[in-house]
Amino acid sequence: MDTSIIIPEGFPYAGNNLEEIISPDSVQQRVGEIGREISGMYQGKVPIIIGVLNGAFLFMADLVRHLDIQFEVDFIKIDSYGDGTKSSGTVRLLKDISADITDRDVIVVEDIVDTGLSLKFLKHRMEEASPKSLRFATFLYKPDVASTELEIDWTGFSIEDRFVVGYGLDLKQIYRGLPGIYAVNEEGK
Ligand code: 5GP
Repeated sequence: MDTSIIIPEGFPYAGNNLEEIISPDSVQQRVGEIGREISGMYQGKVPIIIGVLNGAFLFMADLVRHLDIQFEVDFIKIDSYGDGTKSSGTVRLLKDISADITDRDVIVVEDIVDTGLSLKFLKHRMEEASPKSLRFATFLYKPDVASTELEIDWTGFSIEDRFVVGYGLDLKQIYRGLPGIYAVNEEGK
């Protein structure tokens, strides 16, 4: 991408450029593939698809447009990063789901799995309600950071341990609308 996007003063990494690491075309192609896989696996079923706010809103919206099955949606909002660029180590539930997921097929849609703390929290929350089945999709995954015992059913892309923005992911609430995935390029430092 055009590296003329320079992070403004007052934000983490101020003065550095954003470097495209996944193009908008690759994003859309991969989301289509995952959507087709999910459709194949849930033929004849009506899963509840639960988006994890705020970061997963674009992935969720694009993903469901690739489904050729019936489905319901719901959302949960959690926070583990606050406004920073590192996990706080604790997960706060900011908004719970409202659907009754007992005995339902549930698919949780996440933006990114970093330490995996959020995923573990979500798994615990969902399992409390005894769904019929529970699967996880994440758009991004940082294998070098996450603990190994995580069970993720669909991963868009595995990426290096860098702070990324775009496609729903923010830096202090900005950059969520960028169509690809961008990392802070600190090389010029
Ligand atoms: P985890 O609980 O797996 O450590 O972190 C998951 C959450 O942390 C994500 O849902 C996201 O909100 C945030 N996060 C983790 N890595 C990044 C990143 O590289 N960029 C952004 N913008 N958020 C991230």
